[in-house]
Amino acid sequence: MTQLAPRTKADYPYVPKVRVDDPALLLPSFQPVVGKVFWRLVELGFVPVVFDTLRTPAEALKNVQKGTGSKNSLHLHGAACDLVCSDHLWSCREHKCKFYDHLRELWLEHAYIGPLGDYPHGQALPVSQQANFRALPPAQRDAFVKVWLAKKR
Ligand SMILES: [Zn+2]
Ligand SMILES: [Zn+2]
Repeated sequence: MTQLAPRTKADYPYVPKVRVDDPALLLPSFQPVVGKVFWRLVELGFVPVVFDTLRTPAEALKNVQKGTGSKNSLHLHGAACDLVCSDHLWSCREHKCKFYDHLRELWLEHAYIGPLGDYPHGQALPVSQQANFRALPPAQRDAFVKVWLAKKR
């Protein structure tokens, strides 16, 4: 079994305030990819946090109202994951921390980035395939992303 990211707040003693989401809520084919990106960041000396995996429609709507997400988000289907830096959360730039530079490279290497230029965000399929993905019955979505993720290995 591929090792997944730590799941509980107890794994992040330095940032007790941040929420930690469960990678097991992601589509099965996407989970080991997130694990790969996560552990590569750890090897590089960062402490990543799995901040957001699966979103409910109500959570997606709230993000739209805050201007930080899409109501059609791939997070609604477990096909997107947001990782943040536990040391600086979203303000790595101010601290000259390269967390998000590495994360972007790793998402591009092993998965895909989204349409919003949202730096914590990685997704299991290219933006050009989002409409095709959403049109599928839920039971077929994992097989679909598996094909797109296999192109990246
Ligand atoms: Zn940082
Ligand atoms: Zn996201």
